[in-house]
Amino acid sequence: SAKQIGNRQTTRSIMSEYGIHAKKGFGQNFLTDPAILGRIVSAAEVSRDDNVIEIGPGIGALTERLAQAAGQVLAVEIDQDLIPVLAKTLAAYDNVKVINQDILKVNLPQLIEQQFSDPTRPLKVVANLPYYITSPILMNLLATKVQWASITVMMQKEVAQRLTAHPGTKQYGALTLAIEYQMEANIAFNVSRHAFVPSPNVDSAIVVLKQRAEQLPEQPFNKGKLFGLIRGCFAHRRKSLWNNLQSTVGKDAATKEQMKEVLEQVDIDPQIRPEKLTLNQFIRLANVLHDSNL
Ligand code: SAM
Repeated sequence: SAKQIGNRQTTRSIMSEYGIHAKKGFGQNFLTDPAILGRIVSAAEVSRDDNVIEIGPGIGALTERLAQAAGQVLAVEIDQDLIPVLAKTLAAYDNVKVINQDILKVNLPQLIEQQFSDPTRPLKVVANLPYYITSPILMNLLATKVQWASITVMMQKEVAQRLTAHPGTKQYGALTLAIEYQMEANIAFNVSRHAFVPSPNVDSAIVVLKQRAEQLPEQPFNKGKLFGLIRGCFAHRRKSLWNNLQSTVGKDAATKEQMKEVLEQVDIDPQIRPEKLTLNQFIRLANVLHDSNL
């Protein structure tokens, strides 16, 4: 309707009415394309049954669409200058709560328990993320004990490609594997920089993360060790797995001899590049290293 926030004209008039200037330091790029806003809510499959958390509501363009589709919406905004604006732009929706906090500092399980009238409903994250902290936000969301029904987020296209990369490509790396360990990631669609005010310098994409349909074929004995190994193996992407393992695990004669046996046992060629290994191969490798006290 004409009342909607997410279009160019309304956004500009709200910004001038409240004297809002997009803050680069907070990654503020406001969505002004009504079609894109609709497609985000559709990609997230938001329904009246859902509790939704939005990170960074801005002036409320996506929040408003979420309020129209969800049961309840909790929006977490760091910029205190936007709080009075949101109180006004979202005044018509009694199922929206805005809180002035840093998403990287909130206690998510506690917040969910306190803010949603029925915290047992399916919980979805939907957000046009501040791009400067995309990875820390995703890592935080996945590190909590919260069971997300889905996470639907806009990010820089290059980061979206890393999240959804396949082994053997240059986008494939520690971030891909950290996500794949818990979720299935898909790019829903790409978004042009012209859909925002102000336009960012990069193009964007919407990524949908869902809980894995199937369990991993093998579980790591020690998750911290697995990701230590993965980070170590991607430290020098252009070097062989063997060279990376020597810097990560050790290069004395006895360790090298043991590592050779481990690689034979898991049937991995020491000369391949680490970026060729699947998550399951990393897990097997980590587990056999662990068994060999390496
Ligand atoms: N959702 C709005 C939209 O789509 O038009 C704004 C999106 S803008 C790309 C990112 C928003 O995240 C801004 O409103 C910004 O102030 C907010 N933000 C930045 N860092 C944040 C943080 N650490 N915690 C919560 N919100 C943050």
